[in-house]
Amino acid sequence: MPELAIDLSEAKGFLRGKGAKTCIVQIPEGLKARAKWISDELSQACENVFVKMDPCFGACDLPLQDLNALNADAIIHIGHEAIHRPKNIFYAPLRYEITDAELEKICGKLVKELQKRKMDSIALVANAQFIHALPELRKILFRSGIQSNIGKGTQRVCGEGQILGCNYSAVKAVQPSVDANVYFGDGMFHPLGLLYGTKKPVIVVNPLHGTVEEIPEKTRDTFMRRRFAAIAKASEARSFGIVVSAKSGQRQKEKALELRKAVERQGRKAYLFEADYVNENYFTGSGVDCLVITACNRIVIDDSQNWKTIIINPTECLIAIGEKTFDEWVPDEFA
Ligand code: SF4
Repeated sequence: MPELAIDLSEAKGFLRGKGAKTCIVQIPEGLKARAKWISDELSQACENVFVKMDPCFGACDLPLQDLNALNADAIIHIGHEAIHRPKNIFYAPLRYEITDAELEKICGKLVKELQKRKMDSIALVANAQFIHALPELRKILFRSGIQSNIGKGTQRVCGEGQILGCNYSAVKAVQPSVDANVYFGDGMFHPLGLLYGTKKPVIVVNPLHGTVEEIPEKTRDTFMRRRFAAIAKASEARSFGIVVSAKSGQRQKEKALELRKAVERQGRKAYLFEADYVNENYFTGSGVDCLVITACNRIVIDDSQNWKTIIINPTECLIAIGEKTFDEWVPDEFA
């Protein structure tokens, strides 16, 4: 099974090159158990290493204000590819190491699946932990007569073929010429975004489980049923809280102002809320009937079941107030 590799040698070189005395290191939630090791490693290159313990879900969430607060020289962001590229930030993405044998094996399954469906031109995409494998995957597929297209996304995504839950531009760039989209990675969040963002079949290649499959019908149905149920409830709301995140890569003030106008145009009340960490506890007692989250769309998609208040994404808000139709549901993206 592929292993997750943490390589901090370049991060240490970056800190030494800057002569950094103080740095802040951000670690994804799943890696907090390795915080001591990471701190020890970086301490070889920098005297004061502060491990940021607030939750961090992506490269959209940099603690820029902490640079001043701690008089720090740099941020080392572990786990994700770059979104912003300020000079004093170093990104150390995490990658799964996949052996040639593992790649050949899973690719064999993929070829069979594509041949069965008579698909010979595909878009190949991955999340940040797997994009390094795409060029080799393309070569193997080519030998079997399958043309793979690896698109280049907007500035928000770094590597070719990389998609984020909030940006599918790399796959959209190659849509006209493909029969299907092949996602190389784990989880169903990105594949569902691909499916509803492109309206083309999505084959999920999961190198961790060694599986190749289309998104199961039950997964698709449950997903859409939940979204439509939330929109139906939101359509009865009289007051909306439009939530803007303070996070550097999730801030969408203009979108929030547009939504407020749209809500008011439809004769309902809208209030603007701002929060850094968008968490249900902070909104208890706000008194609005529905919250529209303009920050990371994953908050709504992954977590709405756990909120007592109805939470929806911007496109869903427009559907709820009658400015768009259900057929126009797409995942909300950052340009
Ligand atoms: S906004 Fe959400 S999906 Fe986009 S990079 Fe940040 S955490 Fe990932």
